[in-house]
Amino acid sequence: MNILFMLDIFDRLPDGLLNLDSDQLYKILDRPTLIHLKSDRQPALFVSILLHGNETTSWLAMRELLRKYQNQKLPRSLSLFIGNIQAAKSKQRHLADQPDYNRIWKIEGQASSEQMMAQQVITEMRSRGVFASIDIHNNTGRNPHYGCITQLDKHSLHLARLFNKIAVHYTSPQTLQSYAFSEFCPAIVLECGQPDLPDGTAHALEYVETCLTLDSFDSLPDSAIADMDLFHTVAIVKVPEEIKFSFAENPDDDITFPAEMDCLNFCELPIGAKFGRINTEKAYLSVVNEQGQEIGDRYFQITDGEIILKKAVMPSMLTLNTDIVRQDCLCYLMERLTVEKKS
Ligand SMILES: [Zn+2]
Repeated sequence: MNILFMLDIFDRLPDGLLNLDSDQLYKILDRPTLIHLKSDRQPALFVSILLHGNETTSWLAMRELLRKYQNQKLPRSLSLFIGNIQAAKSKQRHLADQPDYNRIWKIEGQASSEQMMAQQVITEMRSRGVFASIDIHNNTGRNPHYGCITQLDKHSLHLARLFNKIAVHYTSPQTLQSYAFSEFCPAIVLECGQPDLPDGTAHALEYVETCLTLDSFDSLPDSAIADMDLFHTVAIVKVPEEIKFSFAENPDDDITFPAEMDCLNFCELPIGAKFGRINTEKAYLSVVNEQGQEIGDRYFQITDGEIILKKAVMPSMLTLNTDIVRQDCLCYLMERLTVEKKS
């Protein structure tokens, strides 16, 4: 596919766009779309939405913000990128024949048309200059709202703290939108809880508006970031393909996880905490660190048929949705990070 046909760039909001729900955007937008809305203060705040088509909070928040500013100037220029419009139409993360739109922001090997489109967005924004980049997402399980950042400089920490006290530092995968943008501006991923919930929409809206109104990150005091609860991802936990599992509903499965397991998200769990019950000797969890090494023995042991934590960790992204566990992962394991806050 010709790259020119993969991205639309507008300098105003298309008429009628703000009347649509996320699954109707395809009626006006044919493909991924970048909309530059100019105001007095430069450079623009970049906001990326619907990289995952079923994560509706991003559109709900930005639609409400743009409705609010329909008849008044934005506090700062805004560049809005609307990602996977086709997946949004069918309320899916991505369509079966598409890549994940939040794994296309770095070219590895032969470039797909989606990767080339992402490069076009990067090139365009890099040349215009960006105040900060905000990519808005939802979780499938119960999680608090938090931001993820790749850099630990003061501007990035402020960007995260303005959203919540809890923040996550990550360094992989490098194919994420926020990773790519963090090379030239402060960049964050917002995790706004489950889709369609009013508190997630309100929080994202308020946050984007705060960033639009902010004059510079240098004007924020160091004390603002002193109380942060900063964590970093140490490993990803997967259920091996051959292992059958459920959340308490089928005790005959190889592994039975607790019924309300997603309540453990962002709880700091002690050594000895129970992670699930095994019903066969062959059952195990795969734990892979950021370097791609299998390190399950470091985190879990099996005692009396229970999967027990060997190290104090905090899980995130635990979901009770078995399809997501199969497609993506059971959870991430995180550890508390103390940083010397760099300027
Ligand atoms: Zn997402």
